[in-house]
Amino acid sequence: MTFFQKTTETATNHPMIDLRGIHKYYKTAAGDFHALNSVDLQINAGEFVSIIGKSGSGKSTLLNMITGIDHPTTGEVYVNDMAVHGLNENRMARWRGKNLGIVFQFFQLLPMISVIENIMLPMDFCHSYPMRQREKRALELLEMVELAEHAYKLPTALSGGQQQRVAIARALANDPPIIIADEPTGNLDSKTADSVFELFRNLVAQGKTIIIVTHDSGLAKRTDRTALIADGEIVNEYVAKVMPTLSREQLLQATHVARKQTYPAGAMIFAEGSDADAFDIVTKGMVEIVLPRPGQSDVIAVQLGPGKYFGEMEFFHDRRSRASVRASEAGPVEVLAIGYDQFGELLNQSEATREMLHQYADQREEENIRRRGVAA
Ligand code: ADP
Ligand code: MG
Repeated sequence: MTFFQKTTETATNHPMIDLRGIHKYYKTAAGDFHALNSVDLQINAGEFVSIIGKSGSGKSTLLNMITGIDHPTTGEVYVNDMAVHGLNENRMARWRGKNLGIVFQFFQLLPMISVIENIMLPMDFCHSYPMRQREKRALELLEMVELAEHAYKLPTALSGGQQQRVAIARALANDPPIIIADEPTGNLDSKTADSVFELFRNLVAQGKTIIIVTHDSGLAKRTDRTALIADGEIVNEYVAKVMPTLSREQLLQATHVARKQTYPAGAMIFAEGSDADAFDIVTKGMVEIVLPRPGQSDVIAVQLGPGKYFGEMEFFHDRRSRASVRASEAGPVEVLAIGYDQFGELLNQSEATREMLHQYADQREEENIRRRGVAA
């Protein structure tokens, strides 16, 4: 496709979307309603991210913070290096038109004008392409979504899936770097949903950054990253990945009790034989598990990168460390630490999680015995 500009990474390498400390309160008759609670979310250029959560958990509110359709009560929102929380509505509309393509559950095409006119509208609004190029570009976009032969029909002559593809073509009219879609497949049958989803995949492959809210956890699994939101709070992604058998409430509890800790390159996190006190999930850098052998050189048993964890073996075996754990020499390490008391409480609430981690601990123990033997 030649009609998209390649998205270039900013020299400063900021996240494309950066939400910092967002709180959103809605004023209601019953008092303030806390719809978003301390939300931090960073999304890099070119990522395909899904947001999932129960109805009423705050997904649309979150998207509205990014699109500037609504403002946070406190906190900061940066999108493509623009401070969206500080933009007034006048400047917002132009900025949004060039930077964001927005797709809704119910398509929201204008019913009185043709499909192709719907797609040209954002270009007219932003004066983004010379007038005589707009129709040609709109047709090319319709070709991309395989609807060129319907260009001059009214939207209502098209099926739901076709209308959503038109809405996606419209979202791309000004070649925005970012697409935001709120339950774009929520009103489509699963086969149609699949083809719409594939369209998003192709756009990511062409360099777009895409966020979709979805109820469909099957679709969510096919994105690069999933952010789970519960009662207005974002569940830590690493916590959710490592303990998938926890309920949403338990994941939120784990998120609350997890403490971020950093270690410089090469630093000892804990030494063999010392008292371990936390279950740790690696979130940045590489951790090495080292098996010391008396009178011989150490064996590096494994390297653990982001999304891997340690400290579960010690939890199940008298809380004494079974190996040394250190940050790799390659760079600093960041972990999320859940203290054993709180970790124990979580496992008391989820037998499945206890079982899974216990099995894993036993398996690692066996591997370590084997490694020490082989290396000896
Ligand atoms: P989701 O998209 O996850 O279903 P929303 O972000 O739409 O959830 O809503 C989150 C919560 O905030 C809900 O409890 C909803 O009732 C409430 N809410 C949303 N918009 C408003 C509003 N304008 N005024 C008051 N409450 C609102
Ligand atoms: Mg919603």
